[in-house]
Amino acid sequence: RAKSRSRGSISVFEPEMDRQLRDRRVLHQDLSTAIRNGELSLHYQPQARASENVLDADVTGFEALARWIHPTRGFVSPGDFIPLAEESGLIVEMGEWILRQACREAASWPVPLQIAVNLSPAQFMHGDLVNLVHSILIETGLAPGRLELEITEGVLIEDFDRGVALLRRLKALGVRISMDDFGSGYSSLTYLQSFPFDKIKIDRAFVINLGLNPQSAAIVRAVIGLGHGLDVSIVAEGVETHEQLCFLASEGCDGVQGYFIGRPAPIAQYAALVGRVSSVATARKVG
Ligand code: C2E
Ligand code: MG
Ligand code: MG
Ligand code: MG
Repeated sequence: RAKSRSRGSISVFEPEMDRQLRDRRVLHQDLSTAIRNGELSLHYQPQARASENVLDADVTGFEALARWIHPTRGFVSPGDFIPLAEESGLIVEMGEWILRQACREAASWPVPLQIAVNLSPAQFMHGDLVNLVHSILIETGLAPGRLELEITEGVLIEDFDRGVALLRRLKALGVRISMDDFGSGYSSLTYLQSFPFDKIKIDRAFVINLGLNPQSAAIVRAVIGLGHGLDVSIVAEGVETHEQLCFLASEGCDGVQGYFIGRPAPIAQYAALVGRVSSVATARKVG
């Protein structure tokens, strides 16, 4: 009762804000049943060794990206529903589903490529992440070295010591740890000194501006140099053009990911890469 009365006070807000809040609340409720209703799925985006001409054989793995198809709204961007899931704590349950799904999928591939899964800061703060990862690896039979966990600096900002301790325990399981969106937030070199990341992913904001502004090229070049010095693999995100790819390859960037290499898509679209005969190919052969 008290709650619903205080909700009534929302009417003092601007109507637009009121609508947005109500909208969020509804979306929130819908998200809580999304997993159960099978509305959540994963798309996979290839990562490849950087070279001027990326071939199938250069693909080293995939990043799993969550997708929510809402029954009436249709596609809801993870940029919208992941923060919502984090606020409500739903991310813990959702993150578990995503991790299990991605590991199970990758474990079924005839070609043992890498699988990268995003972890949100809330997943670090709640539940026993280390035990969860460990039991999912056992349950799915995925070799630990094939799993890459992507974290953003947010994880380390909230509680540095706890974050670093958790990362060390995760790494002890044999999984790899990637720093995602490097340079986008409050990325600090302290993080790189305090934790041995296996991979740094340069935020797409820098890649977009390659060729447009010399600062971006200088930053990308410096991060690649940093990676080489620290013996950390550097992957550029958001590679959309051949020019960007050529620049990155010539600067010695290790890996690339982006629409130019391949869009996030259901794994069926990448059946050949993971060593499965696609149903289309089978149909052609049979027919
Ligand atoms: P991210 O981890 O940095 O993922 C890369 C994002 O860039 C993806 O957006 C991908 O679709 C997009 N992208 C890839 N290549 C290109 C490109 O060439 N050009 C452009 N313009 N965009 C490109 P998406 O799928 O919308 O995901 C957005 C963010 O949501 C992710 O950023 C990640 O932070 C979060 N997210 C997605 N799936 C999950 C998940 O399963 N768990 C968690 N915790 N977060 C997730
Ligand atoms: Mg990521
Ligand atoms: Mg990223
Ligand atoms: Mg990004």
